[in-house]
Amino acid sequence: MQAGGAGQINKGVIISLRKAVILKFTPKELMQFLVNLGEPGYRAKQILEWVYQKGATSFKEMTNLPISLRERLEQTTEIGFLEKITEQVSADGTAKILFNLSDGQGVETVVLPYDIGYSACISTQVGCKMGCIFCASGLPGYIRNLTAAEMMAQVLQAGGSARNRDQELKSLVLMGSGEPLDNWDATIKFLEAVKDPGRLGMSLRHVTLSTSGLVPKIKELAALEFPLTLAVSLHAPNDDLRSKIMPINTKYPLTPLLTACDEYTKATGRRVTYEYILIAGLNDSVDLALELSARLRGRNCHVNLITLNAVPELDLRPSPEVAVRTFRDTLRQKKINVTVRRELGADIAAACGQLRNNYMREC
Ligand code: SAH
Ligand code: SF4
Repeated sequence: MQAGGAGQINKGVIISLRKAVILKFTPKELMQFLVNLGEPGYRAKQILEWVYQKGATSFKEMTNLPISLRERLEQTTEIGFLEKITEQVSADGTAKILFNLSDGQGVETVVLPYDIGYSACISTQVGCKMGCIFCASGLPGYIRNLTAAEMMAQVLQAGGSARNRDQELKSLVLMGSGEPLDNWDATIKFLEAVKDPGRLGMSLRHVTLSTSGLVPKIKELAALEFPLTLAVSLHAPNDDLRSKIMPINTKYPLTPLLTACDEYTKATGRRVTYEYILIAGLNDSVDLALELSARLRGRNCHVNLITLNAVPELDLRPSPEVAVRTFRDTLRQKKINVTVRRELGADIAAACGQLRNNYMREC
């Protein structure tokens, strides 16, 4: 369980049974917490090393701590890991993990076995407000934001899944359910913990944040000058079509969105990735590929074409292979950097969000 239960009433005094959660602490806060327990502050560094670097899943494993401290921590503290409900591993090694959160909500994390090192795809919200017409994550609507600690727990537990196969996580993508820029505070807090050498210590160059295009937040992110890769879900080259596919486009149309992305590149020196899901008969024609290339011409960017992962509840089909190839080749002829995203985990199917939706339905 994550943060523990309700308060207990005792002679008019409410005694909280909540345990402190290690993943919620900055190194400084943990040091203070330990000093308050009468322990030396340097224990914080040791504990954080166990949790973030050595894959410890309990205080028992922290063998350089005195047994008395380990026992005390077990009674008063928890690391903050999530309860794993299922882990499905596909033939190609992709693992899809479903977690149960402390309030009974489900959330998904995917471990991707790339040749250059494993990657974790983490969720930032339960559900989503954006209502894109192809997306399973948005089907239940918005339920709640995840905390920075819940995001980090996904990373560490995905790391555990990689470690079970003698692999290490080399990169992260914020591309699971939810809109990370709609959960700004927790997402930034999480990114701070990712890059902190005293915690995960992963360069933000190995992190990709995917957004449906919240323009003011892209500008705020640019101002932070994090070197992460910004991936923007485009899915259409004009406002009419994009607004049909992604309602958020009516609020933040393409021209201001692309301008904000240009500002992002200017501020961070990082080229933006544009994601484009190909949906049969909707956004996959040669004319639309030409329109997209005209819009992106001269921009330092990369286009990632994605074949739709069909969601049973939604009446949309993936573009046939020949349409995907033609779309890609049309962009290439117009000198746009483009790749087709390799499909991983096809046999465990489930577009992001489906596993969770099925689980919540069963519940
Ligand atoms: N909300 C953010 C990040 C989460 S969605 C965003 O929209 O970018 C992450 C990626 O998964 C996006 O590129 C989204 O377009 C893609 N995605 C969502 N549903 C999909 C589906 N059914 N098939 C293929 N890709 C999907
Ligand atoms: Fe939300 Fe992204 Fe899904 Fe759109 S694609 S509904 S923004 S999670």
